[in-house]
Amino acid sequence: MSDLFIGGAWSPAATGRSFPTLNPADGTVITTCAEAGPADVDRAVGAAREAADAWAAHPEHLRARLLWRVADLIEANAEELAELESRDSGQLLGVAREVSVPGTAEHFRYFAGWCTKIQGAVLPVAFPDTLHYTRREPVGVCALITPWNFPLMIAAWKLAPALACGNTVIIKPAEQTPLSTVRLVELMSEAGFPPGVVNLLTGGPGTGRALAAHPAVDKISFTGSTEVGRSLVSAAAGGLKRLTLELGGKAPSIIAADADLDAAVAGNLTGALFHSGQVCAAYARFYVDRKRADEFTEKMAAGAAALRIGPGDDPASWLGPLVSEEHLRSVDAHVRGAVYEGADLVGGGRRVDRPGFFYEPAVFAGVTDDMAIAREEVFGPVIPVLAYDDPDELVARANALEYGLAASIWTRDLSTAHRLAARIRAGAIFINMIHVPDAATTWGGYKASGWGREMGPYAIDAYTEVKGVWTHLGPGSR
Ligand code: ADP
Repeated sequence: MSDLFIGGAWSPAATGRSFPTLNPADGTVITTCAEAGPADVDRAVGAAREAADAWAAHPEHLRARLLWRVADLIEANAEELAELESRDSGQLLGVAREVSVPGTAEHFRYFAGWCTKIQGAVLPVAFPDTLHYTRREPVGVCALITPWNFPLMIAAWKLAPALACGNTVIIKPAEQTPLSTVRLVELMSEAGFPPGVVNLLTGGPGTGRALAAHPAVDKISFTGSTEVGRSLVSAAAGGLKRLTLELGGKAPSIIAADADLDAAVAGNLTGALFHSGQVCAAYARFYVDRKRADEFTEKMAAGAAALRIGPGDDPASWLGPLVSEEHLRSVDAHVRGAVYEGADLVGGGRRVDRPGFFYEPAVFAGVTDDMAIAREEVFGPVIPVLAYDDPDELVARANALEYGLAASIWTRDLSTAHRLAARIRAGAIFINMIHVPDAATTWGGYKASGWGREMGPYAIDAYTEVKGVWTHLGPGSR
């Protein structure tokens, strides 16, 4: 049983309620977590509010040391964190060890570096004899709500910049995968953050709703579904809370006639199926030059069928389980729907007959733009292949959906690549490569894929307010 962390102390929920978290590889209960209700939310927001002024005034170089120390503690406890992440989310242990845990530590280090470099500017103003300068100030109390696919890394994407900028935080991990965040918060407490600066509420959508609606929350940073993102816009409207939203995606991957097809197949298998496709930037609709479409589809189907499906802790596994029974059913319903609409299921597309939530990746040929499988986010191991005849169609087809998180282009022609990169409306374009996040770059979406950007200098914008200070330098006031 794990507790809530509020004001520097661990405690159960005021109601005493808890909820189980399951191992997706076998459906068994790993442990239970306190389910925070409105009273706990109120206490956590109160603790964050109370700590806010002192934390905002905490010397920047000492803030940096705390964040750096979190990274050191993550590395010192790397194996335990990787195992927790894998057991709770189904992520391959190798991915947890090589991507999630180091990526989390790196994020804390990157933003530790920023602490001492968040600066205002002196701006020239038209008003005579006047000094004008800007200050970057913390937004205040930030509610950080994270999803189940990469719980540890996404927690870091929010915690590290929010704290670097001098905000206090309440983190609410997804109810399916809370355990690595609980451990991370323990490590943050060990690192020595003052009480109330970092608070943890475990719980489900109700906890998230109460947190987002709390009037003393200044900012909500959310990663999850577009549907919940929209509800948060409403929740934020009353108090005009600041919002960063990283929402759904349906990334197009364009495979031009001149692409190195074997490299494209290898890259797109990973782009589509990494973490069983449970990635918001996953390549999820494949526009292939008609001359190469059959060859691409056959090779993708053969490649997908050869991937070993198994539990995250088996080093032979390449595809782990989906996160939950509910999610598996949703993925399967999309696959059945595509078959019903007339897409040609070339391979896979069914549940694996074993305990846990395993699913064979589905490869579809003959998909058209109007089919749901080409338009809706599945968030699972599904590869719909669409053919194109004229490269001039591509921009309109790629941009036709409400989503705009990521896109990928596979070609040997630099001018095709960069012309498309400029015209596709998405927050990240990957040319001849898989999708990767990096703390120093930018992450976020156009259109219904979200508001604002995470990572890099953009995260500093997301977690600060800018204030202009004017001083009249002449004699007396004018
Ligand atoms: P998914 O569809 O991938 O499960 P969700 O968008 O439902 O993602 O959930 C992402 C996170 O948002 C989780 O931490 C979840 O508990 C939380 N959440 C779900 N519904 C709400 C809501 N209405 N308000 C605030 N948080 C919510």
